[in-house]
Amino acid sequence: MIEASRLKKVYGSTSEAVRAVDGVSFDVAPGELFVIMGLSGSGKSTLLRMLNRLVEPSGGELRIDGRDVLKMGDADLRALRNRKINMIFQHFALFPHRTVRENAAYGMRVRGVAEAERLERADWALETVGLGDRGDAYPDQLSGGQRQRVGLARALATDAEILLMDEPFSALDPLIRRDMQDLLLNLQRELQRTIIFVTHDLNEAMRLGDRIMVMRDGQVVQLGTATDILHKPSSDYVREFVSDVDRSRVLTASSIMREPLMTAGITDDPRDVLRRLSDIEAGGVFVLDGGRIAGVAHDESLAQAVGEGRTSLRECLTDGYEQTGPDTLLVDLCRLVGRHVVPLAVTDDDGKLRGVVPRATLLTALSDARTTDPDNSRKAAAHV
Ligand code: ADP
Ligand code: MG
Repeated sequence: MIEASRLKKVYGSTSEAVRAVDGVSFDVAPGELFVIMGLSGSGKSTLLRMLNRLVEPSGGELRIDGRDVLKMGDADLRALRNRKINMIFQHFALFPHRTVRENAAYGMRVRGVAEAERLERADWALETVGLGDRGDAYPDQLSGGQRQRVGLARALATDAEILLMDEPFSALDPLIRRDMQDLLLNLQRELQRTIIFVTHDLNEAMRLGDRIMVMRDGQVVQLGTATDILHKPSSDYVREFVSDVDRSRVLTASSIMREPLMTAGITDDPRDVLRRLSDIEAGGVFVLDGGRIAGVAHDESLAQAVGEGRTSLRECLTDGYEQTGPDTLLVDLCRLVGRHVVPLAVTDDDGKLRGVVPRATLLTALSDARTTDPDNSRKAAAHV
């Protein structure tokens, strides 16, 4: 979707030049939530603004959807900014004398969408961000978090494929900020926009980013997933950053789950399932129906079915298992693991089994939380 190559921005004259962005290259895939992280002054905002040429690059190349953005004339550039890309700032302005609905519809007004459709889409967007009942309110009747939601609604209502977000949650207090992060993750899963999100907070970056680009003094010091950055910091600089991160609140079920040692299909024969179970020395197994968990079959009920000559697994099923979503934080997994014969199931929105988290895997991941040595965690994982 976005291909940036050796992007550069030098502010000021040659005598007093500031290299704000100094040869930055990255690609962003459609539907990705890409985070740019770095301390204040590292060039994040400058880089973000170069993507729609609010800041004119001093050098490099930029393609969006294959089109060369730096060669665009005024008309193309206007279309890019009005249709394709939307930007959300930390302190963006709501019009105080317009209702929340009119504020949410504002972005479309600029884009020339007819009024009836504007208001309809605004209502949908407000509903989506959890403000469905506040359309008639005025901004000063909303809390800070709610106002930020209106900003998000405004961007969603426009249908822009790319959202550029410059520290949109930085002014919010921690609890509301967490809610907004959850909201953004849920929206992202549903709506699949491409999002470039800027933050100076590594915890936030790790929580949100499919990938994170860490910047320092206008340059990229590391680009990778949260797990990459936690386990293989590219330099002492990144390692220092990472040491402040509470992994149990950053890593998610999907980052530590693994394939189940075995599963059974709903049409399998209890005798075969029991034999396979004994081969792996386990006491129970997930039985799947079309990828979804139909239930768990325990060895005793399988043995009983075999003894009675029954051939359907359906009668052997219990609901003795726990399940969670791929984005659940490790800290929230603790109360779910270890209660049942089978490991914790990780399922996606359709209820399909994506992987499992055995108790020992979780304990290993949590105890590794204090070390950053990748060899250590690999060794520990091998023992599970
Ligand atoms: P960040 O968003 O990471 O805090 P910025 O992109 O705002 O970083 O700034 C990067 C560097 O460029 C800083 O040294 C900043 O002072 C400088 N800078 C930013 N905008 C301008 C400008 N309009 N004119 C001159 N220097 C600027
Ligand atoms: Mg900034």
